[in-house]
Amino acid sequence: MNIQVLPLPEDRKKPRYTDESQLGFGRLFTDRMLLVEWKAGQGWVDARIQPYAPFSLDPACLVLHYAQEIFEGLKAYRWEDGSIALFRPEMNARRFNLSAARLCMPEVPEDLFVDGIEQLVSLERDWVPGSEGTSLYIRPTMIAVEPVLGVKPSDHYYFYVIMSPVGAYYAAGFNPVNIMVEDTYVRAVPGGTGEAKTGGNYASSLKAGLEAKKKGFDQVLWLDGVHKRYIEEVGAMNMFFAYADKVVTAPLAGSILNGITRDSVLKLAGSLGFSVEERPIDVNDLMADLRAGKVKEAFGSGTAAVITPVGALCYKDECLQVGDGGVGSLTQKLYDTLTGIQYGRIADTFGWVRKLA
Ligand SMILES: *Cc1c(COP(=O)(O)O)cnc(C)c1O
Repeated sequence: MNIQVLPLPEDRKKPRYTDESQLGFGRLFTDRMLLVEWKAGQGWVDARIQPYAPFSLDPACLVLHYAQEIFEGLKAYRWEDGSIALFRPEMNARRFNLSAARLCMPEVPEDLFVDGIEQLVSLERDWVPGSEGTSLYIRPTMIAVEPVLGVKPSDHYYFYVIMSPVGAYYAAGFNPVNIMVEDTYVRAVPGGTGEAKTGGNYASSLKAGLEAKKKGFDQVLWLDGVHKRYIEEVGAMNMFFAYADKVVTAPLAGSILNGITRDSVLKLAGSLGFSVEERPIDVNDLMADLRAGKVKEAFGSGTAAVITPVGALCYKDECLQVGDGGVGSLTQKLYDTLTGIQYGRIADTFGWVRKLA
C-alpha cells in the first residue's frame, strides 16, 4: 500500500528539546504521525503521513463508550555511529493483529504496519535522541470511530502511529523495586481480554496500582483471576524468577500479554545455559522458595524498562527480600545483553534488529 507523505509546513514544526536528560516518558511528540483509515466495504484507505494533529471525533464514536481500542509499544534506538534500529517490529505487528481479532477489529497488513513505522521513523529521524539509554518510543494505535451508541463492532477505524522521544528509564540508577502481590483486584480472567493490548485492561488496573503506591510499593504482582493463586504479570510487564540453574515464568494461557521482551529473555537465558520453564507458579510455593533462599533473582520484562529488578516481594502480611535485595547477576546480564543488541554494541545473533535504510 502506498503511503502518501503530506507536507509539513514550517509553522507546524515543534520546538526541539534541548536537554535529553529532561525528556521523561511520553509527554512530547514528534512533528508527524501515520494515519490510515478502514471503512466497511472498502478496507484500508488513505494511508498518509501527516503533521501531528488532534483528531476531531464525534462524541458518540464507539471507542469513547465501549473501549474498542488496541495499541502497541516499541522503540527506535540510535546507535553510536548515528544509524537507527528497530527491535523485532514484526512481532508487534503480529501481536497487534491478535489484539485486533480479539476486539473484532480489522487486521492491519503486516507490511503496512512495519513499512509505515519505518517510513515515519525515517522522516522523523532527527527526533531519535542519542544519549545513553534514550530512545524514540513508537505507539501504534487503532480506535473505533463510527458515531453510534449501539454495542457492535465499528464500521470505521483509525489506525495511527505517534512517536515520543523518551529519556533513559534508569536515569536514577538500575535500582530494584518493591512489589506487592495483589490479592483483591484481578487484571484478567480466562476467556477475557488479558492477552490483548487493549485500553480497558489498563483502565481497570489503575485502582490496584494506586492503592499499592499508597502503601509504598512500586508495582503490583497480579494473580490469576480464578484461584488468586498463580502468578501472572507485574504491572504491565512479564514476571520472571531465577533459580540457580533455571528461569521460570508464567505460561501464555490467554490471560497474560505475550511480551516480546519476555520472548527475548527466554531465548537469551537459554543461550546463557539456563533451563527455561513456562509453567503455572503457585504464589505459596514461590514464597516458600523465597524463604528457603532458592529464588536468587526476580525481575519484570517489557519494552519501556527492558528489565526491572525486583528487590522485595510482599504477599498478605509477609515481606521477603529477593536474593540480597540488590540487582542479581543474571538480571544485570540480561539487561546489558538486550540493551547491547538494541543499541548495536553487541552482535545480534538472533536476527532481532532491523536497521533503518
Ligand atoms: C506491553 C505489555 C507487556 C510487555 O510486552 P513487551 O512486548 O515486552 O513490551 C507485558 N504485560 C502487559 C500487560 C503489557 O501491556
